[in-house]
Amino acid sequence: MGRTRRIHTEVIHAGLRPGDWQGATLPPIHQTAAHRHATAQNLSDTFAGRTADHIYMRLTNPTNRVLEEKLAHLEGGKGAVYMASGMAAITNTCLALLRSGDEFVCGNSLFMSTYVLFANVFKKYGITARFVESTDMTALEAAITDKTRFVYLETIGNPKMDVPDLERAATIAHAHGLPLVVDNTLATPYLCRPIEHGADVVIHSTTKYLSGHGDATGGVVIDAGAFAWNEQRFPDLLPFVERKGGLALLDKIWREHHINYGTTGAPLHAYLTMIGLDTLAVRMERHLANAAEVARFLAAHPKVRRVDYPGLEGSPHRATAERLFAGLGYGGVVAFTLADQPACFRFIDHLQMVYHLANLGDCKTLVIHPYSSQYLSFPEPVRRELSITPDLVRLSVGIEAKEDIIADLEQALAAV
Ligand SMILES: *Cc1c(COP(=O)(O)O)cnc(C)c1O
Repeated sequence: MGRTRRIHTEVIHAGLRPGDWQGATLPPIHQTAAHRHATAQNLSDTFAGRTADHIYMRLTNPTNRVLEEKLAHLEGGKGAVYMASGMAAITNTCLALLRSGDEFVCGNSLFMSTYVLFANVFKKYGITARFVESTDMTALEAAITDKTRFVYLETIGNPKMDVPDLERAATIAHAHGLPLVVDNTLATPYLCRPIEHGADVVIHSTTKYLSGHGDATGGVVIDAGAFAWNEQRFPDLLPFVERKGGLALLDKIWREHHINYGTTGAPLHAYLTMIGLDTLAVRMERHLANAAEVARFLAAHPKVRRVDYPGLEGSPHRATAERLFAGLGYGGVVAFTLADQPACFRFIDHLQMVYHLANLGDCKTLVIHPYSSQYLSFPEPVRRELSITPDLVRLSVGIEAKEDIIADLEQALAAV
C-alpha cells in the first residue's frame, strides 16, 4: 500500500470494492426484513458468528454494513454499528458500560437530549452522571470515583461552542482505567478524529453533517478497539473480550443492547447517508469557511452582544481548537446574543433565506432560538448552567454563498 489517501478521497472510496454489487457504484438498498439461507447449517453458523451472512434486519443489514465499514475507516476505528439515531448510539453505548449504582463523568456542554438522558432518565435506574465544566480537566479528574465507568465529552459543545482538550481528558481517563467516549457530531472526521487524540469510542448523529442534507436520521458507534478492559471496573466486559478481543465493547453494545432494544437503522437512511458522505470533505471546507466569515460579521455588528465561536480571536477555546483541528477550521455552528428574547424573535422572523428549524449540519443555513424551543421545559437553573439564555440565537451555517448568508443576516438584524 502507498501512502494513506486524503479524506477527500476516503469519504468517496473507503470500504467500497470494485467487484461488489455487479459493478454498481452504490450499494443496493437491501429492503428486506430477513435473509434466506441455503442450508440449516449455514443459518446455524451465522447465528454462531462463523459467517458474515445476514439473518434479520434488526440484527444486521448489508447496506448498513457498508456504511459501518466506511465510518469506522474514516474515524480510524476497528468497527462500527449503525443505528436509528444519534440518541440510539449514545443510549446503547452508555448502557453497555453501566449497571445500576455506577457513575460516569461528563461535560456539561451536551446536546439537549443527551443532557436529559444523563441527568433525568439514567437517574431513575440508579445511574449517576457527574457533570463538570466540559473544559475543566481538573474538575473532570476530581469527579472520578471507584464507581466511575467512563468519561464522556463532545468535541465541540453546543451551543456554548466550547472545545475540551480531548488529549488531556484521554490521559486522565486512561490513568484511572476508564475509556473516553466522544460525541464527534459537530466536528466530523473531517475536522477532528478523536481516536487519534486518545478517544476509545466515537459517536455520531449521522443525521447532521455526515448525511448533510437533512434527509435521513441515523447514528453510529465506532470502537477504536484498543482499550484494555480491566476486571476491576468492567467484569461484564470480560466474556466479550474472550469472544471479540479489541471489539469487546462494540460486540456488547450490539449483542446485548442494540438488537434487543430494536434500535435498527433503516437501510434507506444508510444509503442516503452514504451519498451525503461522498461530499463531506468539500461541504465541511465550505461550512468552516462560511461559519468563520459569519462569526466575524456578527462580532463586528453593533446589535450583536456576544459571539460564541472557537475561531474568533479572544475565544478561550481557540488554542485547543487550533491544536485538535489542525488549523482546518473551528466548526460550522455559531451562537450569538442579541438584546433580549423579543429581539431574537424579530431577527428570526425577518430572515428570508435562512431556515428556521430544529436541526444542524444541513447544507442549508439554519437558525433556532434554543431557550424557547429545545430547552423550553428545562428548569431555569439548568438553562443557566447550560448557558441557554433568552437572548441566545444559534446558527448552523450552510454552504450557500457567504455573501448571501450574510446579506440575509444583515437585513434581519436591521429589523431588530
Ligand atoms: C443531534 C445530535 C445528537 C442526537 O442525534 P439524533 O440523530 O437526533 O438522535 C447527539 N449529539 C449531538 C452533538 C447532536 O447534535
